[in-house]
Amino acid sequence: MHSQVLIVGAGPVGLTLAVALGRRGVHCTLIEQKDAPQFLPKMERCNARTMEIYRRLGIVDEVRAAGLPAEVPMDVFIVTSLTEPPLLQLPYPSVARAQAEIAACRDASMPREPYQLISQYTLEPLLKSVAEKIPSVDVRYGCEFISCAQDANRVRAQVKRNGKVEELSADYLVGCDGGSSAVRRQLGIKLQGDADLLRFRQALFSCDDLFERIPIGKGRHYHVADSQATFLIVQDSTRHFTLHAVADKDPDMAALFERTVAMPVNYELLYVGEWRQNLLLADSYGKGRIFLAGDAVHLMIPTGGLGMNSGVGDAYDLAWKLAAVLQGWGGPALLQSYETERRQVGARNVAASGNAAKGRRAWRAAWRPEMSDRTPAGEAARAHLASVADVEQRKSNEMIGAELGYRYEGSPVIAEEPGGPQHEFMNYVPTTWPGARLPHLWLGDGTALHDKIGEGFTLLRLGSARHDAGAVQAAFSALSAPFSVLDIAEERVRDLYGFDLLLLRPDLHVAWRGNAPPADPAILAAQATGHARSR
Ligand SMILES: Cc1cc2nc3c(=O)[nH]c(=O)nc-3n(C[C@H](O)[C@H](O)[C@H](O)COP(=O)(O)OP(=O)(O)OC[C@H]3O[C@@H](n4cnc5c(N)ncnc54)[C@H](O)[C@@H]3O)c2cc1C
Repeated sequence: MHSQVLIVGAGPVGLTLAVALGRRGVHCTLIEQKDAPQFLPKMERCNARTMEIYRRLGIVDEVRAAGLPAEVPMDVFIVTSLTEPPLLQLPYPSVARAQAEIAACRDASMPREPYQLISQYTLEPLLKSVAEKIPSVDVRYGCEFISCAQDANRVRAQVKRNGKVEELSADYLVGCDGGSSAVRRQLGIKLQGDADLLRFRQALFSCDDLFERIPIGKGRHYHVADSQATFLIVQDSTRHFTLHAVADKDPDMAALFERTVAMPVNYELLYVGEWRQNLLLADSYGKGRIFLAGDAVHLMIPTGGLGMNSGVGDAYDLAWKLAAVLQGWGGPALLQSYETERRQVGARNVAASGNAAKGRRAWRAAWRPEMSDRTPAGEAARAHLASVADVEQRKSNEMIGAELGYRYEGSPVIAEEPGGPQHEFMNYVPTTWPGARLPHLWLGDGTALHDKIGEGFTLLRLGSARHDAGAVQAAFSALSAPFSVLDIAEERVRDLYGFDLLLLRPDLHVAWRGNAPPADPAILAAQATGHARSR
């Protein structure tokens, strides 16, 4: 039983990796210890970059169709209950409105795709069904990873299925097996940071008419100003809700739900569980032929919704590199670059989620028991909390810089250009600095430049200067690496991107830029494909 890649764990990250590898024709086996996807709440927001990636994987419409309807606002409220006037309402556009804003945007400041609210329990079965339709992907639920060993040529894994232990072998193994990753433990890789910072109870409620009846406005998050850090999250169907709170016992959750809703509703409590706040990053993202991705290497506080989204980025980065090496044109530095590129994003996003959680704590510290009193003191306490939250809560909801602005620094497969803009969590500054994701732009004919870029390397020739691309083409051909030239004559595009020539990787990150062809195309091609020696 041999495959090119064995993926352990069918959470959103392992499933995305299977789809991304499968689309590149890689033979992979995905094993998952559970018998089937479970109806358990976890993440609910795919960010803009994840949706751009799902667009490139050809599944963006399916994800949107299964998620929150496009016209539902994504507002975030700070409330005392769902029936009292909100202390603060932070407006965020529905997907339909965000798409209209993107359609009207003529600069490079917005993503190709807006976010999408979709519950993890909806996303996982969807990704599973996509993966199962790809001929080169073998999806096996009810199959538990036990241990593995590797030599110079392959990885052998012991897995348990129907009570029997069997061996699977693969050229590479990727552990996408979550926070308590057995693959990571097997490799002896440690997590560093702060564990178990706070414990929350989470309850899932089914309530058919609550969303329609909320009198204070429709949104996705309702944070209750109280002493238990209670918050209510609308799930994708708008008929399911999760309530999170620092509560002593499971039965407290129904009472907290009723107190938050503050009007008579028929509801069913479907699940109560616990989750912990962690800010942890693995020392390393793999060893030899074994890699790690997603929560196996970074654990973030969900505040800001960077957890799964960072893992999807890991999967997308690793997929084209593994495919390149398996197809024979990727060199050794390509797989080494996975850790260089993705661990720095993991570190920044762990810090960003810590910053968001600090902001959340800051406004919650302004809570006072007299908050619900209809007295001048109560009024003053509410106004004070709202003014603090108006600054601090935004740290959770406006991390567009962390989502889109990440740039791979010091990567062995990206041309070095010293300097570069600062990384900002809350602000997206479009740039074509090598390592950055190519900013989205509309062309004059209304199509998106992103949509014109293929699955291999692309040399963008912009504006009226028509530099000879022959030598670069020849250099990539000599390595059998997929390469094409895309001419965009519009001067506006050249001006916004700032250069005549941009070399793009399959993941839309800039590998090199210049106003004349590279001095030594062979060196550039060798570096971009991982054949040059690491710096
Ligand atoms: C309350 C809450 C809200 C969140 N909201 C967001 C959000 O809005 N946006 C966001 O981006 N993130 C959010 N997150 C984080 C997000 O849920 C995780 O980052 C995400 O689930 C990580 O995906 P993963 O595939 O890496 O790991 P997991 O989802 O943990 O999946 C790992 C899989 O591996 C399987 N597995 C484990 N061990 C084995 C084994 N030995 N053999 C075989 N299979 C195995 C598991 O059964 C599991 O299916 C939230 C988390 C919580 C708790």
